[in-house]
Amino acid sequence: LAGRGHGGANTVVRVGRAEFGSGAVNVIAGPCAVESREQMTAAARAAAGSGAKVLRGGAYKPRTSPYSFQGLEREGLELLAEAAAAAGLASVTEVIDEESLAAAVEYVDMLQVGSRNMQNFHLLRAVGRANKPVLLKRGFSATIEEWLMAAEYILAGGNTQVVLCERGIRTFETYTRNTLDLSAVSLVKKLSHLPVIVDPSHATGRAELVAPMSLAAVAAGADGIIVEMHPEPEKALCDGKQSLDPAAFDRLMREVDIIARAL
Ligand code: PEP
Ligand code: MN
Repeated sequence: LAGRGHGGANTVVRVGRAEFGSGAVNVIAGPCAVESREQMTAAARAAAGSGAKVLRGGAYKPRTSPYSFQGLEREGLELLAEAAAAAGLASVTEVIDEESLAAAVEYVDMLQVGSRNMQNFHLLRAVGRANKPVLLKRGFSATIEEWLMAAEYILAGGNTQVVLCERGIRTFETYTRNTLDLSAVSLVKKLSHLPVIVDPSHATGRAELVAPMSLAAVAAGADGIIVEMHPEPEKALCDGKQSLDPAAFDRLMREVDIIARAL
């Protein structure tokens, strides 16, 4: 089901005003984690003002350390939904189990399955039964085949609204958080009819690499990008080092537009 078949048309996944797979470059932006009403209001205003169509914000965070900030859970979903609605944006958040999935479907427009859960087959089946678009991140040690099979689980459950997201894979390199596999974008666009977007923030872990990798992603044929943007990155509870501030995000959006028009 995830494969392109013979001459099949591209799937277009609609999330609010975003149309992933339509040929346009759609941008998702917002903080790694929902922290407060003030933070989400500012992030939503900046995202919308610069032309993003979807607001991101984690309410259930799958953190490496159990002592790191784990997210505001239902309160976070409320703040995300409220800020997105006020700014005229759609919303996406990560679900990590059936409990967070049941809560998220009440508040957001798109469900994210994160890199750590890409092969959580029980969760994939559950989002396959959900009536919401799904953003499926590539596992950080997953092959393209495994990634497409994860999408297959969701499609086989009856949910055809899947957007794939390349977010970097683990290699021997330590100067970047992960290694962005841009060839996967062009390749998966050939192998599958599903839209593919890129997350330059988790791929690199470094704010100064987010703009160049975003532009490269668009040039490689990505259907969009998902960018971590925080009103005050230095104060972020999660992933501040890879987060753009609103001014840098605005510059990036202008540059993305130039590349997208040139293609
Ligand atoms: C995220 O987008 O917040 C996230 C945790 O990303 P990933 O699953 O790609 O690490
Ligand atoms: Mn993050």
